[in-house]
Amino acid sequence: MHHPATLPDDGSGTLFGLDALSPGAAGGAAGPSFRDSPTARRLLPVREIHAEPAAAASPRGRQIIARFPGARLVTVDSHWRIPGLHGNEGNVERWVRVKGETLVLGERKTLTTRPNGRSADWIAPGASNGCAMACAYCYVPRRKGYANPVTVFTNIDRIIAHLGRHIARQGPKTEPNQCDANAWVYDIGENGDCSVDALICDNTADLVHAFRQWPTAKASFATKFVNPDLLALDPRGRTRIRFSVMPPEDSRLLDVRTSPVAERISAAADFLDAGYEVHFNLSPVVLRPGWRTAWAELLRHLDDVLPERVKRQAAAEVIMLTHNRELHEVNLGWHPRSEEILWTPQLQQAKRSENGALNVRYRNQVKAEALAALRTLMDTHAPWLRVRYAF
Ligand code: SF4
Repeated sequence: MHHPATLPDDGSGTLFGLDALSPGAAGGAAGPSFRDSPTARRLLPVREIHAEPAAAASPRGRQIIARFPGARLVTVDSHWRIPGLHGNEGNVERWVRVKGETLVLGERKTLTTRPNGRSADWIAPGASNGCAMACAYCYVPRRKGYANPVTVFTNIDRIIAHLGRHIARQGPKTEPNQCDANAWVYDIGENGDCSVDALICDNTADLVHAFRQWPTAKASFATKFVNPDLLALDPRGRTRIRFSVMPPEDSRLLDVRTSPVAERISAAADFLDAGYEVHFNLSPVVLRPGWRTAWAELLRHLDDVLPERVKRQAAAEVIMLTHNRELHEVNLGWHPRSEEILWTPQLQQAKRSENGALNVRYRNQVKAEALAALRTLMDTHAPWLRVRYAF
């Protein structure tokens, strides 16, 4: 069972078995797409599509609407702040359901690439916003309220044209850094999960294909979902996929509606062989009684199951949990057990952000000690796993 108490759709637990990764399930000419499988349809049983008129009329919008012929189409003036859809109001159980049953189609108006320097050199304007999964610690929905389904931006061609211009302006990368030795790394999935977006439409595929033509740049996205359709995209080394991992017992509690951790790890070799660079996000690291033992087991599992070729090119980001008072209060309404390990004021310090939200993170000393302990565990159990950055 995945997390029966919080899987309102079907409670079927594991999203799909490993056999879904067999050749032929990867989409393209070889066989039916995973996204048309009953398993994918269970994650996204779309019943309602809220669309801006221009988005609905665009080629990408029309493709998406055609993929979900049973869905009711609702015209909205703006993809931003749809009453009854965004915000924290209403029944919390309902809004976990909303994430799978509702899609929003809009056009991205502002195309801005922001510098980052930690995980990626640049944060690209995403082709979506929001996520059909519901991790208890997720920061993505904070600005729209928590009941936010996936918003797909249909003007993907403008996003790609913008990226092409930005990449051209940078020229080649002359100094290696922690993001990458040679390429400018663009995070294409800051506000969602590109693997899930690929269940909805070809935005992820279009981005992966675009980066093939840019030898000075590389796309990068973190994911908690194994979508075998991505294996057919032929990224030619220009896309880095970062599978997020944490001890399975934490994941079962916190990562609602995602693929099980073991499945993400066992998919790594398939993704490498399909032409991706495969990294891992050790994130978030949640400090709770027994965390060291649990992470040691996870690292040993990585060491046991990953083939040598994956280890040789792997690198990791380590990200300690950050949390937020509003999210804590929302979670108490739908998933109080998660808060037993996420909300630990004796270990955390609060900081008010510019927009007034109260964010919490582990106290400096607690965090420094935990990071040192985790690095020791990595040296012991997975010495091949280079840390790209720890935060
Ligand atoms: S998969 Fe990522 S974007 Fe989606 S809910 Fe979880 S943390 Fe948020």
